[in-house]
Amino acid sequence: MIGLQELKQRIEVTATTIECPLKDCTETVERQRKSFKKEERFKCPKHNIYISPSTFEYADYRDNLLWKGGDDEALLDKISMAKRESRMGRDNSEDAVTWNVFRYLEKKNLIEGFISQLTSTTQEHAEVIYWSYSQKEGHAWTLLNKAREEFGEELKRSSEPDIIIKTDNGLFFIEAKLTSGNDTPSNEKQIEEKIRNPKKYTTGGGNWFQNVFLTSYKEIVRKQKYELLRFWLLGTWMAEQTGKEFYLINLVTEEKEKDIEAVFQRHIKQNAKLKFLRLTWESIYKHISNLNTTSEREMMIRFFKDKTIGYRNGILNKAFST
Ligand SMILES: [Zn+2]
Repeated sequence: MIGLQELKQRIEVTATTIECPLKDCTETVERQRKSFKKEERFKCPKHNIYISPSTFEYADYRDNLLWKGGDDEALLDKISMAKRESRMGRDNSEDAVTWNVFRYLEKKNLIEGFISQLTSTTQEHAEVIYWSYSQKEGHAWTLLNKAREEFGEELKRSSEPDIIIKTDNGLFFIEAKLTSGNDTPSNEKQIEEKIRNPKKYTTGGGNWFQNVFLTSYKEIVRKQKYELLRFWLLGTWMAEQTGKEFYLINLVTEEKEKDIEAVFQRHIKQNAKLKFLRLTWESIYKHISNLNTTSEREMMIRFFKDKTIGYRNGILNKAFST
């Protein structure tokens, strides 16, 4: 994987060309604009990456992953069939970072300890569901699909938490943000459209909405918390069906959305069994750094330290404050 150590701090971007971001590489390719394209004219022939002014993408997406081959790849293949979209080969991919970090925690049996510590509870028998795919069931998780239906979502355009962790007592939705934020929809036109078409969000589950929100659907959509609204609605309903506690965990970088708990908690009814939490990637990094020798811990520490998220105005961006 290409990271901070391998990349130029600054790249030259002209109106028509862009240089390869790798240190010591003198290749220059045509500059691409608008939506990212994987075309030969944008590719560095030496490094096998497609370049744009803001990011680059590996010709083989697996080069962006720490866990590939064998069981990991078999699982990824199954996930990608259930998953809506994938840009895992892109340097600034949230999904690739999510996979690299959570698959590590899962493989090393660290999920339960981490979640227990985070929530000050005791969680056992954790099952990790990546982008809806249940490893146990071998397809999109049945209970999630039930919830989607209950609230009037079409399966193709439905709510898809990045990570769901299911334990004996708890249900945890983790929505991971790296470069994007929580504000959806992003413009006035879409806000109006969501308000005009609330699906069954306010009526499904026997008016479940009333049980778990303090403010109205319309107000929350206007405040651009549509995505969090859906996760809170579906997750609390699913927890109720199974008698579990529910945590909606918003995973962001340390410097971003510091007030998201206060902002979203205004809208929701929380209690001892239903909670919304902000979590940072950097605190996962600290948790991993503090572990007693686990194999591949050093590799994860290096990953957090070297991880980049493309370029802004020709200047390299480090992903985390590590
Ligand atoms: Zn190159």
